[in-house]
Order: sequence, then structure tokens, then C-alpha cells
Amino acid sequence: MDRTVDPGRTSPFHWNEEVRPGLRVAFTAVAAGNLALHVGDDPDAVRQSRRRLEAALGIRAESLRFMSQTHSDRVALLGASDRAGRVPPDADAMVSATGSEPLAVLVADCVPIVLADADPDDGGTGATAVVHAGRAGVANGIVVKAVGELRRRGAGTITAWIGPSVCGSCYEVPDAMMIELAREIPVAASRTPAGTAALDLPAAVRHQLAQGGVTVEELRGAASSCTQENTALFSHRREPGAGRLAGLVWRP
Ligand SMILES: [Zn+2]
Repeated sequence: MDRTVDPGRTSPFHWNEEVRPGLRVAFTAVAAGNLALHVGDDPDAVRQSRRRLEAALGIRAESLRFMSQTHSDRVALLGASDRAGRVPPDADAMVSATGSEPLAVLVADCVPIVLADADPDDGGTGATAVVHAGRAGVANGIVVKAVGELRRRGAGTITAWIGPSVCGSCYEVPDAMMIELAREIPVAASRTPAGTAALDLPAAVRHQLAQGGVTVEELRGAASSCTQENTALFSHRREPGAGRLAGLVWRP
């Protein structure tokens, strides 16, 4: 089928690519179902959606690692002592030091970011990370902290993939809120088509990644990545409580 028509309605993925040999990055669409346990959905239905997703990713059931996200600036480090099925870390970024744990970040309008250091074959650590950055996360520097954690663990050439979120034209906020964030990050200031104050969170995230020396790879061939405009994506602003999409990084 023509994947430019409305891909998220039939495919579970908004975008899904092997970004380098043996490493994949994906962002889910509504067809993958709601993947969050905290939006009031039937927990069994959510677990079924997660199992279906893991099968689609080609990974073991219950091996996908989620976080308990609270708009904090905490970065969780997954290590050898961690096992799948354990309590999700209370964090808004999560690092797999070896890149061996499949990672998931859940969003519906906030910005999901996947990070990966170069492979060991190319002199890197192979570490991977996911980050949840909404307005609070952009302000508290969660992206910067996640990049810092990767650097501390020896990462050199870090690449980022920025997933679907509400865009700078749609994210209307009170003037004071825009001014406050723009004081720190001028590119965060935006306007709606009507001329009212807005925030451009993806632009702010790009700025923070560039400051950290991280290269952003574009999601080539993806449909509109604005969650509020593209109904194949979950949007809390358009439809509160409908669900969350996932940003994913894994080695099948
Ligand atoms: Zn938009």
C-alpha cells in the first residue's frame, strides 16, 4: 500500500527503520494501540498491545523496558542487574549502557527522543537511550542530562531521532509561559496561525541536542509528525486519555 496515505491507521508504526546494521528505531502510531498503563485503559488490553508490539519488533515478550515518567530530570541507567519485568524506573530518560535492552518512551504531544552512540565496531560504546521531553523536560534539561550520562559512559558520536510531538504552530500557551521558556531557549518561542503565543518544543530539543554535540537524523519518508494534526498519532491535547505512542530503540 501507499504508506504516505495514512500509514498509522493500518501499520503499527509511524516510522520504523534499521538505522544502522542491527539497530532499529521506531515510533508507533494509533494502530499499535495505547501502550500506557496510566491513562485509564484496561491494563490487560495495554499488556496485550505491548505483547503484540514486542512480537512486531522481534523481541522476547516482556523484554521491552518502560519508565514511570513524571516530567522529572532523572536519568535511569539500566545495568546487568536489571531484569525485564521489574518495576519501571521513576525517570524521564533511560540509558542502556550496552544497548542490549530494548527501550520505550511513551508520549502524546511531548517529544520522544531516541539516542544512540556509535557501535563498538566503530569505536563507540553501543549505548542507547530514550528521553521524554515535554515543556517541563525541555526546561529542566532532561535531554542534556541524558546526553551527559551517555558521555560519562564514554559515548563519542551520538545520534538522535526526534519522534512525533505537538508542533510549534499547534502548541498554544499563555504569553507568560512562552516568555519564560524563551528566556532560556529563544528558539522555543513560536506563534499559532492566529498569532497567539506558542511553544516549539521540537525546535527547543534540536537546540539542546546541537549544544550537546548530537547529530539529529531525520525520519525520512515519515508522514506529518505533529500529533495534534495527524490523527494516526495519539494526542493528549486533541483527545485526552486516548493513549500514548512509543518511541523505541532495540536490536532485534
Ligand atoms: Zn501542529
